[in-house]
Amino acid sequence: MQRIYQPQVETLPRPKLEALQLERLRQTLGRIAANNPQYAQRLNGIQPDELRRLDDLRRLPFLTKDDVRQSYPFGLACAPPGDFVRMQMSSGTTGTPIICPQTAADVAQWGSIMARCLTAAGLTRADVLQITPSFGLFNGGFGFHYGASAIEAMIIPIGAGRTALQLQFMRDLGTTAIAAIASYPLRLIEVAEQQQFDFRRDTRLRIGILGAEIWSDEMRRRIEARMGIETYDIIGMTETGGVGMGLDCAEHAGIHVWEDHYLIEVVQWETGEPAPDGEWGEMVVTTLTREGLPLVRFRTRDITRIVSREPCRCGRTSLRVARLACRADDMLKVKGVNFYPGQVESLLLRHPEVGADYLVVIERVDGADHLSVSVEAAAASAEHGASVMAPGAELARRLADELYDLLALRAEVKVLRAGELPRPEGKAVRVVDRRRA
Ligand SMILES: [Zn+2]
Repeated sequence: MQRIYQPQVETLPRPKLEALQLERLRQTLGRIAANNPQYAQRLNGIQPDELRRLDDLRRLPFLTKDDVRQSYPFGLACAPPGDFVRMQMSSGTTGTPIICPQTAADVAQWGSIMARCLTAAGLTRADVLQITPSFGLFNGGFGFHYGASAIEAMIIPIGAGRTALQLQFMRDLGTTAIAAIASYPLRLIEVAEQQQFDFRRDTRLRIGILGAEIWSDEMRRRIEARMGIETYDIIGMTETGGVGMGLDCAEHAGIHVWEDHYLIEVVQWETGEPAPDGEWGEMVVTTLTREGLPLVRFRTRDITRIVSREPCRCGRTSLRVARLACRADDMLKVKGVNFYPGQVESLLLRHPEVGADYLVVIERVDGADHLSVSVEAAAASAEHGASVMAPGAELARRLADELYDLLALRAEVKVLRAGELPRPEGKAVRVVDRRRA
């Protein structure tokens, strides 16, 4: 049996868990009615006591990202202004900020669910957690901070960037766990290689808690192999109150969602009707304990499926969803073919001679869509390749053929030297669609 932060609630038998969800759902509607009449009106005037069963939730309308964005700054807020103690923000693609105002109880809830996540990832007060997401408007840094404070682990609040210093602290301060945006370990690995820094030899690192981006299983295997760590996939977003809504436990058999705080539905993308368990659809979140910005049937645009509602081997009873496969917004349509960047990533990273950085560019050339994929050669193979004539050409041709088999699309594939693609701080840029410019 693994360590569990709040064993009573995390192992509640399902009937009790669902009864608790219904009670908290009613409380949430009551809170909205009491604090924000406009928001309550959006909910078709349905009163809390009209909800007899959890399924009655379906009588309530969806809330979209646009709804939340248009409510900037406090249109959906459900606490008196004096009760707010902090906020986080995400900008998304359009530039209009989405903010999540938080009460003291919200901050406490955040710390508590993050403590659950860290415990499920195997952290205790003996651990040293290096927090590499930024501290600021982005929720990552503070979320990990509150969680690690709750379990009294040592915190290294270094934030984003400064990769050489990250490695130095990792070695000198005995870091055992890192929290990061999913692509950041690639940067750490790259700089480590340049400095002949060996994670296994030079550090005590054993745990990586990664999220905020879609990351393929192939990427996961690479990170684990190169850093000698076990990784945990964490979910959550600004609107739901930040990182920490769920995590895949050490069984790695799906991501547990903390259901006493979040009610999860998976719905068919086009119709909004419930997707049967096991089928892919959009994750819809209703918050059950958030005060400042309670969400009712919030469409996350993240695509997942319910893996199981049975108790997990770890002892937890909360349902498990699949690792996020894609975001609905990320879908690309090129020459009438729909695909996700993650499909391209999985294909590329199956080749050990390909580095972990890549860039997909789509543009209009002479009135037609043109798809190009730039990949870097893996650092080691770039050195070996120097003696081979046109080392990248053969690989590029092979990758182009495989992409054609996968997508029925001709792509121009360029194999670059390691380090040639730009390295932005924060979330990785994998796709540039110039048709939208
Ligand atoms: Zn589990």
